[in-house]
Amino acid sequence: MASVSLRNVAKLFGDTLAVKGIDLDIDDGSFVVFVGPSGCGKSTILRMIAGLETISFGEIRIGGRLVNDLPARDRRIAMVFQSYGLYPHMSVAENLGFGMKIAGTAKAEAARRLDRAASMLGLEPYLERRPSQLSGGQRQRVAIGRAMVREPEVFLFDEPLSNLDAMLRTQTRVEIKKLQQRLGATTIFVTHDQVEAMTLADRMVVLLDGLVAQQGAPIEVFERPANRFVASFIGSPAMNFIEGVLATRSGTLGVAIDDLFLPIPGERIVANGDGRPVVLGLRPEHIVPAGHGLRPDHGFDFSAAVNFADMLGNETLLFVDFCGKEVLARMQNPRMIRSGEVLDFRVNLDRAHLFDLATDESLTRA
Ligand code: ATP
Repeated sequence: MASVSLRNVAKLFGDTLAVKGIDLDIDDGSFVVFVGPSGCGKSTILRMIAGLETISFGEIRIGGRLVNDLPARDRRIAMVFQSYGLYPHMSVAENLGFGMKIAGTAKAEAARRLDRAASMLGLEPYLERRPSQLSGGQRQRVAIGRAMVREPEVFLFDEPLSNLDAMLRTQTRVEIKKLQQRLGATTIFVTHDQVEAMTLADRMVVLLDGLVAQQGAPIEVFERPANRFVASFIGSPAMNFIEGVLATRSGTLGVAIDDLFLPIPGERIVANGDGRPVVLGLRPEHIVPAGHGLRPDHGFDFSAAVNFADMLGNETLLFVDFCGKEVLARMQNPRMIRSGEVLDFRVNLDRAHLFDLATDESLTRA
């Protein structure tokens, strides 16, 4: 396996700078996920690492070796695409073996690799079938198997789960993670789905507009989003945002929103200056009906009529007005809620986030 490093890597398509100078260090054996909205440059970065796209500026190294001018076939990488790219006229076994046949791999070695991949991916019962005789999930496993038999130093996945239905997606996601742990393979996985990113990654790279917005362990990014974009993109349902100004009341720091004052633990705030315009960020799980388990040191209680209740079974999402804005609250242990029903809520301000209104940068530490 190998490490991958990017230094000031950029991509120009005509006069458009799609990737704007990225530095990344991907450790040997780690699982890194590139996540971000459509058009942020995830696939382009992956394709530059694969050698399927030229690099306009900067350097890419795989296992310490500069690969800028190395053709894709010599990079010791294997890529799995969203559209599985299987040969329809070949059996599963032939699909798995085709690359090795072309590469002239010795027969015994090719058979060993094929058996190992088929066994690890549970493909043995399907080896004689054609791709058209397989389910979407099984096809995806064949595509992964085809990457495995190449015994690459780095696996690249470009939105490989997008064509699967929700249940199969979760199942295949778990399979990919388990497989990566067993193989200890350096893996780079592209997705626009933040749940996939959170659950798969050792390290998550959040991209926006051709730049890295933040990178780190998923929980670190979730707990300490560096800016408002990351805060809104990571976490589901998304964080609520309410504008206010920094204020001090009776020696306590907090946010003033119209005539309300919400105290924030002083050690959490890295900014000072009363009157500074800020955006308060509250995750839905930190606004809960009273009696639902939240006992923060810094809290705020309010009552509001429920505008709408989204009952999901295991929990209910409640749309309520707070500080002149509709926010999303979360009710675990749900019961039947009718629109218009008035409930008491408690806000956990120990976990609140603050962002500078002008720059969107975070003003809180965890
Ligand atoms: P998605 O999730 O929609 O696949 P992405 O984050 O993978 O998006 P890229 O496909 O890397 O985004 O595209 C990044 C930017 O580069 C986009 O603005 C896109 O329009 C542009 N782009 C990508 N490929 C080309 C190309 N061959 N020619 C011109 N522009 C391109």
